[in-house]
Amino acid sequence: MDILLQQAVHTHHLSHEEIVSLLTAPAPAALFTAADEARKQFVGDGVYLRALIEFSNYCKNNCLYCGIRAGNKHAKRYRLTPDEIVQTAQKAVGYGYKTIVLQSGEDGWFDTDKMCDIIRQIKKLDVALTLSIGEKSREEYAAYRAAGADRYLLRIETTDKTLYEKLDPGMSWENRVRCLHDLKTLGYEVGSGSLVGLPGQTVESLADDLLFFQKIPVDMAGIGPFIPHPQTPLANEKSDGHFELALKMMAVMRLLLPDINIPATTAMESLHPNGRLVALQAGANVVMPNVTDTQFRPLYELYPGKICVGDSADKCRGCVEEKIKSIGRFVSSKKGFHGDFLAEK
Ligand code: SAH
Repeated sequence: MDILLQQAVHTHHLSHEEIVSLLTAPAPAALFTAADEARKQFVGDGVYLRALIEFSNYCKNNCLYCGIRAGNKHAKRYRLTPDEIVQTAQKAVGYGYKTIVLQSGEDGWFDTDKMCDIIRQIKKLDVALTLSIGEKSREEYAAYRAAGADRYLLRIETTDKTLYEKLDPGMSWENRVRCLHDLKTLGYEVGSGSLVGLPGQTVESLADDLLFFQKIPVDMAGIGPFIPHPQTPLANEKSDGHFELALKMMAVMRLLLPDINIPATTAMESLHPNGRLVALQAGANVVMPNVTDTQFRPLYELYPGKICVGDSADKCRGCVEEKIKSIGRFVSSKKGFHGDFLAEK
């Protein structure tokens, strides 16, 4: 293990087999320390905060793991108006956020014109803007980019094509990859990522995920433990061990792609009381506090046990900052593009 870690630290290269052996090694304190050191060297001690606005939970897709899947008839649907979205972004800017992330299910009500209008309004606020609204055509991605969107989050979820198409019925794995390549060639900062602990997922396929992120290459990637939602077909699955495995994935990813932006994901904190702080000390350098109005937060329920559903946006901002300071880190005042830290050094 130590030799492998040394190799990863110095070359940022591991074979498939080597990644599998790091992901399966027990009690990997040395892995987390190595990832934390790489994080410090390549992205520094500043933590980038991204204000997350969950603006609609309408979704045409039926991903078996997801609480807002079209087939969940118990989900109470909501959709913010374009004005409400822009107002929420304005509030977030008032709290000091430098990046706004707009996330939703795949909601056709927001056609290209509506999205571009929202993007243009938010970009007037002097912030970086990230979209996370699913699979679109190249033309749509190009239109959002021309309107000012800077970044796009689209997790591959899993690189196991057979598993992906089983868990995301009606969707095509190739199309998801096509989306990521279109986004990259259109000049977005591209974020991807995986769910960890899906039924039928192997450690070998998780190693493939990391090699896939390296190949694109991604500018950011979020690793989230899969948490079964009671109103989905995967309700009876377990989440035991998913936090630890997701943490290991994230740490290995920091060694392979040392300067990318890696969030301490909200799902990690749902499974572990201090999950995001643990993640920030094992390779992560980004936190995405929720700024969605409190009345809608519980409705955007991708998985159960979502944190901070009752907290106001200003309380979240203060609470997150205190936590970050408690581990000797600080909230960066920068927009936090990929490579900014090294460029400024
Ligand atoms: N429609 C957008 C946003 C999806 S929601 C898109 O397609 O990209 C954001 C992420 O939540 C998903 O990419 C998925 O990885 C995660 N997610 C969904 N259900 C989950 C669950 N049960 N447990 C943990 N994470 C989940």
